[in-house]
Amino acid sequence: MSNTTELSTAKARDVASALSGMEVGGHEQVVHFYDQSTGLKAIVAIHNTHLGPALGGTRMWTYKTEEEALTDVLRLSRGMTYKAAITGLNLGGGKAVIIGDAKTQKSEALLRRFGKFVNGLAGRYITAEDVNIGTRDIEYIAMETKHVTGLPEILGGGGDPSPVTAYGVFLGMRASAKEVYGNESLAGKKVLVQGVGKVGQSLVEHLVKDGAKVWINDINSENLNAVSSKVSGVMVADAETMFDLDMDIYAPCALGASVNSASLEKLKCAIIAGAANNQLADEDLHGKMCSEKGILYAPDFLINAGGLINVSIELEGYNRERAYAKTERIFDAASNVFGIAKRENIPTIQAAKRLAEQRIDSVGRIRLSF
Ligand code: NAD
Repeated sequence: MSNTTELSTAKARDVASALSGMEVGGHEQVVHFYDQSTGLKAIVAIHNTHLGPALGGTRMWTYKTEEEALTDVLRLSRGMTYKAAITGLNLGGGKAVIIGDAKTQKSEALLRRFGKFVNGLAGRYITAEDVNIGTRDIEYIAMETKHVTGLPEILGGGGDPSPVTAYGVFLGMRASAKEVYGNESLAGKKVLVQGVGKVGQSLVEHLVKDGAKVWINDINSENLNAVSSKVSGVMVADAETMFDLDMDIYAPCALGASVNSASLEKLKCAIIAGAANNQLADEDLHGKMCSEKGILYAPDFLINAGGLINVSIELEGYNRERAYAKTERIFDAASNVFGIAKRENIPTIQAAKRLAEQRIDSVGRIRLSF
């Protein structure tokens, strides 16, 4: 028997207080899903739909508490609003988290139950892959809802969006190098890639091809070995000492909040540019600290938008060339943000958020008038 519950009143109050101070308004809808028979515990957060339906992946993670999962989904969904807006997509921001161990708790029944829940949101939220949810899982979700993207190529989808994300991050990094060194080439640059999962591995390949000297770090030794055996000349960095490395670029490609007061105290790099969402533990504080330390921070939601572009193109009928062509715009978009930040003497994260908010405001207004 299934037992499902929507957001309780007490939980709604918690959510409302967690949202105070959000620049583009609070979340529009937050729904908790429980299903006894499959053990599913999930939260969907719809942040903003002014530009279109909320699109964002589903993450499965062993959150210690429900509050921790809620905080994550609120932050991630808000980031998706900014990402879609600054990328020029007609999409809003949303995200889902499934609380549980993907290795032991993920099953066809659980994923299909989740798909049914997503379907109940009637298209206000469209789901996709994220950490621990891959294309095979998306296939199961798609059996229960059409509000899903990121299907395997054999089913007419764009497949794993990670290579496109990695390509966009690489271009964002080259735009950063152009801003800092006057030359976009990464040849000879020392780069630390933290997290060599799907995106990190592909990014390392681009970096090595461009002539960069690469260090990798990961908590998963299998992923470290996979990169070391595939790409020659890559060095493994120890977690304890990696932020002390003499490096030019730090690329966070694991989970969020790795750019914080402790890491910034040690980091001596000139650029931070990576794939992870919500890299800055505190956007205002650490965005400002980066500027004060003379570190160019390439806003995460701007340069990691390749995956979102890829899945958004699938909604129109997938075309790989179009996905890569649209992703190439990340280079100019990043250069534009760096230019604004320099002219106005503000942190890059602030410049990027302002551009996104302006589009949500101006274009959102037009959409409302139809
Ligand atoms: P992934 O799960 O394939 O890889 C993440 C890697 O980080 C894993 O190898 C994991 O072991 C490692 N890791 C986790 N915690 C770590 C830590 N504390 N120190 C070092 N390594 C650690 O995920 P992915 O798809 O490669 O995504 C990476 C990041 O980029 C995530 O934050 C994700 O939200 C973000 N992102 C991914 C995409 C995409 O297309 N996949 C798009 C946009 C943003």
